[in-house]
Amino acid sequence: MSEMHTEVVILGGGPGGYTAAFRAADLGKQVTLVERYPVIGGVCLNVGCIPSKALLHLAHIIHEAEGSENHGIKFGKPKLDLDKIRSWKESVSKSLNTGLAGLAKQRNIKIVQGLGSFQSANSLLVEGDEGSQTITFDHAIIAAGSQATKIPVFPNDDPRLWDSTDALELTKIPKKLLIVGGGIIGLEMATVYHALGSEISVVEYMDQIIPGCDADLVRPLQKRIKKQYKNIWLSTKVDEIQALKKGLKVTFSGDNAPEPEAFDAVLVAVGRKPNGLKIGADKAGVNVDEMGFISVNEQQKTNVDHIYAIGDIVGNPMLAHKAAHEGKVAGEVIAGEKSAFDALTIPAVAYTDPEITWMGLTENEAKKQGIEYDKGTFPWAASGRSLSLGRNEGLTKIICEKETGRVLGAGMVGPNAGELIAEAVLALEMGADAEDIGLTVHAHPSLSETFAFAAEIITGSITDLYIKKR
Ligand code: NAD
Repeated sequence: MSEMHTEVVILGGGPGGYTAAFRAADLGKQVTLVERYPVIGGVCLNVGCIPSKALLHLAHIIHEAEGSENHGIKFGKPKLDLDKIRSWKESVSKSLNTGLAGLAKQRNIKIVQGLGSFQSANSLLVEGDEGSQTITFDHAIIAAGSQATKIPVFPNDDPRLWDSTDALELTKIPKKLLIVGGGIIGLEMATVYHALGSEISVVEYMDQIIPGCDADLVRPLQKRIKKQYKNIWLSTKVDEIQALKKGLKVTFSGDNAPEPEAFDAVLVAVGRKPNGLKIGADKAGVNVDEMGFISVNEQQKTNVDHIYAIGDIVGNPMLAHKAAHEGKVAGEVIAGEKSAFDALTIPAVAYTDPEITWMGLTENEAKKQGIEYDKGTFPWAASGRSLSLGRNEGLTKIICEKETGRVLGAGMVGPNAGELIAEAVLALEMGADAEDIGLTVHAHPSLSETFAFAAEIITGSITDLYIKKR
């Protein structure tokens, strides 16, 4: 068994791990990145955010082409070449893999392929195809991510029972697809498979799809997919899935539960589980809770002073952009900088059609916490840019502290809403108030204007709507 020493070892090469590696290397550290797969990029780049966005782009084209019939352009039914779609999707990930490998090389980062687990507080065993090696280290950053939650009573070995990785493989387009879990993954994959021709049913345990989001932001999506999908069963649970020759027979429970029904495939998207219990953390003395989460302080330090953790493994939300920011902090602290993770919010985006996004305090949370707030909600039906896209269902909402006018939270729903949330995050981070936003000149016609209009509703200076004075 070979042995090597490194100043910083990073376990996991996803957006958290590679960002931490690059930052630490840029600050002069000697870095080794351990990744079980032959490419870096993690779930996000290989079997998550990036391939799903490639497929969502194709779904968008199909839906736009269908919608354009109402505006005087009629296209024929799309002809799908699944092999070509798959290879295009893979090429998108591949070009990013290649880019990351190049960025690692430029920084003299050593990449070791294999499954890593701690042997002690200063050594990691990496088992790869070409044998095992021990890496001793001064500092470690755990960035080992999460995996899709499996429901043990389901027939998990049946190839018709999918997790998000299986769904992204696009091996076939099932005639009848059931999606268990009306969260972000479930609804994004529903968008893709609906466009590609599947009949979609969604079953969600809570009484709303995307349960963490305010109901007014979810409503336009709910309304649109209600027309597109065969069923959306809320407050309903899947009790059993039986693998039959003809399909997967699903039994439901709940007040409005439907009769048992067979599906050609079932995608289970009920959340993700951190990988904390799979990395030998106990041998390093790192505390892991029973769920698999590792708790850290604002410097991303675990209970062991020279071992850090970032990304999905340290807690929700399990989002690549949170992991990357935490990775920078860990890299900087190890290099001796006074860094801390002090982001005021982590934006969420569902790349559905329409897209839904939110950041900061939701209205539900403000109500629950008894916070006094003013709200501005601008309907995109009054946005020239939105109407020129053939869409009128969007909304932009801002919530400001009643006393100071400062932005507390914001959300949008509509085409491209995911791009608009950045301005709201910046406003929150900079301590902007509604007046600052309303007085910032936004380009016309743009969807971004709706953010200023929502702020003007709060300040009372809106001219793009008529609001009767009380
Ligand atoms: P999620 O937690 O967002 O949604 C899971 C949904 O499943 C919830 O609505 C939950 O109520 C429901 N559910 C749970 N158990 C159920 C059951 N037995 N029957 C029916 N419904 C059930 O999880 P996800 O969609 O799997 O996503 C996992 C993680 O990945 C999340 O943290 C998500 O934010 C992240 N992600 C983000 C993006 C993005 O940023 N665009 C995309 C994909 C995934």
